[in-house]
Amino acid sequence: MNVHDSEKMSGIFSESGCSQSDDINNADVIVLNTCSIRDKAEQKFYSKLGRLRKIKEKRPELKVAVAGCIAQQKGDTLFKNFPYVDFVFGPNNIDNLQSWIESSDVERRTLDDKKNKTLDARRSTAIQDNPDYHNKLLPVKREGQVRAWVSIMYGCDNFCAYCVVPYTRGRERSRPIRDIRHELIGLASEGFKEVTLLGQNVNSYGKKLNDNIDFPDLLKELHEVDGITRIRFVTSHPKDLSDKLIQTMKDFPKLCNHIHLPLQAGSDKVLSLMNRRYTYGDYKEKVNMLKQAIPDIAITSDIIVGFPGEDDGDFKMTLNALKEIQYDGLFAFKYSKRPDTKALDLPDHISEDIKSVRLDKVLKLQEEITFDKNIKLEGEILEVLVEGVSESDKSRMTGRTGNNKIVNFNGTEEDIGNLVTIKILKAMQHSLFGERVQESRVHGFQV
Ligand code: SAM
Ligand code: SF4
Repeated sequence: MNVHDSEKMSGIFSESGCSQSDDINNADVIVLNTCSIRDKAEQKFYSKLGRLRKIKEKRPELKVAVAGCIAQQKGDTLFKNFPYVDFVFGPNNIDNLQSWIESSDVERRTLDDKKNKTLDARRSTAIQDNPDYHNKLLPVKREGQVRAWVSIMYGCDNFCAYCVVPYTRGRERSRPIRDIRHELIGLASEGFKEVTLLGQNVNSYGKKLNDNIDFPDLLKELHEVDGITRIRFVTSHPKDLSDKLIQTMKDFPKLCNHIHLPLQAGSDKVLSLMNRRYTYGDYKEKVNMLKQAIPDIAITSDIIVGFPGEDDGDFKMTLNALKEIQYDGLFAFKYSKRPDTKALDLPDHISEDIKSVRLDKVLKLQEEITFDKNIKLEGEILEVLVEGVSESDKSRMTGRTGNNKIVNFNGTEEDIGNLVTIKILKAMQHSLFGERVQESRVHGFQV
């Protein structure tokens, strides 16, 4: 979501006639788009911002802007602690960047004229409510040429006890279906082949719209857009995963056989403390339904270890859940205290040492599971959408299967954007290597 927000900021700069600089020392404006989901991300931001002080001292005309969730949380206090910050804007006020660029331009000229204009006079914030943000059509300068991110909703109403998102990104709002469809038609005309629909809880898309449209209805509508060959979405909250969505994923071939369905913890006690509003049993039932409907579905998840009150027995339940569910991939995190959240007041916070030990155990177990699953794909023939040159080996091309496995193969740049048929020769920990074959039947698809 943050990457896509940055693409929107780039789009606004581009439309204003600015271009991206490769050299931080030559830039006229530096924007730090921040994340505050965990303390580590926040500390990373402060260290980057600290490093900008010297550049600003050398070039006082440089503008420094702070965007994203930390900007939303800290607001004006950033000016106090970092006197060289000029503009602070939150994730629901990206549209305000346009007017800041325009006014900064005017100010820069005035500044040149009146050298005594103080820095303070140039500072501004945009962190106020922006109730119409979800209806705004912002320009986007996208990274890549095959896969595109598309926001379908903003904010979150779930208030999981550990999570800062509802406080920084505000209440849940869905974009109108016509705007989303229009964006996809535009992407198809630009040659994009795959879209990933973004929301904190895509399964509740449409709840506050008046047109009786839910997430599966949106997917069916978007399935009709010619030129877009694959549709993904992230993230699904397990409590809102409906039978209708599973059926839609099964029936509509452009919907990829992959779902990111964060479990967070295997213990019902911890899930309840987290305010996740499902039990492990509920979750398992949904996973079974998904696997039954779509046998080759890949399921990935998020896990938090060391949530307050998680004892050894609870943690064991998380390990057992990983063994039982056999995820294709996992993001695992140590619980991190976040401002405003309910979990701060819970008793029995866990030491960092115990959290580290638990995280290592989760990651190690999942590495084994992922590798075993990848090995089983050796010899399989899979359909891959080619995205570009492989980062790790520039002589190879890279792409993904419908169920999100990364596949590298010897190809050419002419393959970019095409669906190719690949026989998997070798499985690695995080990717597969294969060779191109001329098969006409791959994994349930006729090509
Ligand atoms: N909306 C998504 C959902 O409910 O599954 C998740 C969005 S959140 C940006 C991504 C992940 O960060 C969460 O699933 C959770 O595992 C993790 N996370 C959020 N807050 C955290 C915290 N305070 N400490 C550790 N991990 C956290
Ligand atoms: Fe955070 Fe929970 Fe909302 Fe996801 S659903 S963004 S974890 S509050």
